[in-house]
Amino acid sequence: MATIQLDIVSPDKGEIFSKDVDMVIVRSTAGELGILPRHAKMLTELQPHAMRIKIGGTEQLIAIGGGFMDVTPEKITVLSHSAELPENIDVARAERAKQRAEERIAQYKQATKDSLIDISRANAALARAKARLLVKNALA
Ligand code: ATP
Repeated sequence: MATIQLDIVSPDKGEIFSKDVDMVIVRSTAGELGILPRHAKMLTELQPHAMRIKIGGTEQLIAIGGGFMDVTPEKITVLSHSAELPENIDVARAERAKQRAEERIAQYKQATKDSLIDISRANAALARAKARLLVKNALA
């Protein structure tokens, strides 16, 4: 069966994943996408999510904190804001980040229009924390 090279990099950690895979399922800003070998060229923005990687009959999850994905027929390159393998996720930290983001979002909803809370930043932080917890829980 044909495979496609998947490289995932992040600014602070460099290369996080580099393997030949069967299929990748990502959440782009336009919706969910499944990428198979020999996919047409494409450049898309990713939302924070749990990326699904099908490899040799198994499925692996990686927490992606948003970013960009460049696809060619032979290769998928993910330039992510952040990316973590399940074994590298600190659950307590993700729980704290989720709670902080939820509190900020609740404060924003109660506040006046002059609120200093950056709602899109809080929503993105919440989505990153949820993706980390989902990747970790799927493993449990
Ligand atoms: P926090 O508020 O806890 O820093 P964050 O979502 O703002 O969370 P990021 O800016 O996405 O953090 O990531 C900064 C760095 O910390 C990245 O290298 C990322 O992989 C790592 N990181 C963030 N949260 C976790 C976590 N729960 N477990 C492991 N690594 C994490």
